[in-house]
Amino acid sequence: MTDSEQHSTATDPALLDALREHVQGALPTTIADLSALVRLPSVSWSAFDPANVRASAEAVADLARSTGVFGADDVRIVRSAVSGSTADVAEADAETELGQPAVLAVRPARNGKPTVMLYAHHDVQPQGDEALWETPPFEPTLRGDRLYGRGASDDKAGVMTHIASLRAIHAQFGDDLDLGVVLFVEGEEEFGSRSFRTFLREQKEHLAADVIVVADSDNWSTEVPSITVSLRGNVTFKLTLKTLEHASHSGMFGGAAPDAMIPMVKLLASLHDDAGSVAVDGLASYDADVPERTDDELASDAALVPGVRPIGTGAVLSRMWFQPSITVTGMDVPSVANASNTLLPSVSARVSVRVAPGQDAQEAAAAVERHLREHVPFGARLEITEPDSGDGFLVDTAGWAVQEARTAMREGWGAEAVEQGIGGSIPFVSDLAAEFPEAQILVTGVEDPDTRAHSPNESQHLGVLHRAIASETILLARLATRS
Ligand SMILES: [Zn+2]
Repeated sequence: MTDSEQHSTATDPALLDALREHVQGALPTTIADLSALVRLPSVSWSAFDPANVRASAEAVADLARSTGVFGADDVRIVRSAVSGSTADVAEADAETELGQPAVLAVRPARNGKPTVMLYAHHDVQPQGDEALWETPPFEPTLRGDRLYGRGASDDKAGVMTHIASLRAIHAQFGDDLDLGVVLFVEGEEEFGSRSFRTFLREQKEHLAADVIVVADSDNWSTEVPSITVSLRGNVTFKLTLKTLEHASHSGMFGGAAPDAMIPMVKLLASLHDDAGSVAVDGLASYDADVPERTDDELASDAALVPGVRPIGTGAVLSRMWFQPSITVTGMDVPSVANASNTLLPSVSARVSVRVAPGQDAQEAAAAVERHLREHVPFGARLEITEPDSGDGFLVDTAGWAVQEARTAMREGWGAEAVEQGIGGSIPFVSDLAAEFPEAQILVTGVEDPDTRAHSPNESQHLGVLHRAIASETILLARLATRS
């Protein structure tokens, strides 16, 4: 750690003690409120009952009012048009498709203090196969240190981290709080944040903030916090190769007429070298130090079959955070049960590319397409359809907000934060960064390696919740007293 990273001074000990006491004393209420949120099955996918998402938006709005930080009229439930919806179609009777309800609460800054935006989402993933749950997914259940239930962590614990921190700040500062606060709790993060960009544009004047805290990520462990400082971008598309106008008997034409599978297999194989590193010119890597993780740890964490070696080169975490990766996630071919002695005329694959943080996703998509067109064998006809992409994200870790967060985490957790990358993407973070280029974005969270977000038996570690609330409360107090 360099000197400049240590310059932010410790929080006043009396203030620190008072804040910790507020947080600790309120913990039973915080857990009860979290449990009540978990009971609302607020799945945002269109096939599920939207009444549940509306109910959870109402519940979150009530929680926002309960903090005492916002005026009665300053807490609103907002729905915005889905981007690319019928709102763009010039038909008189076309109904605008609205996204799921978000909660927006605003307290303007006073006396030159900064404004902080607190982001989380109140919608959840579907439960999946209920038989795989050890306790009912929407019945919050305490076992050991953990509260089980869908959304108990992702991201209703993120919502409660903001609520509990604001309550503690209100208990400490009361009406003297000069810090500007924007609480923004989205209702469709798990459904692709479809109305997010419209919402950002429409509410821009209310959302402007110096610091944005996104409480929807991971921690290094239950004892060690993380600040997420990079996210990979992503590119996906459907790749189709066609070699024959119609299927033919493989015993008649096989050996001379190419079936579509041969060029598909060869083309997909060209995407990686013998070490398993991505071999596509024009895909960038990002260069930064990473914590140590051994091949053996990776083999255990990712459940490699004994004897299987990890792929790629360089530090394990740099492969997962900072280098590109390419995965074939699906293929349209006859099933084994339906296989006949036939030359396949065309084959399609779904290709998913993770883009190194810092590289433009469109530029990466163009590089992959160029590679595919240059390497397609036998003149097979190549088609790329259903393209989608999202940019990655890099935090400026030299910014003052990151230093404030580091200090707050040290004081809230009693441990130094690990700066970590995330191999996946959170597309709305890059949308936020694009809309508010001046804001410093802190990606924090309440998850830990055993959370199992999106999976059966999701749970929130309550010690992590306590420490996350403590450090966010300390961060807000530091911002509120910052000169
Ligand atoms: Zn989430």
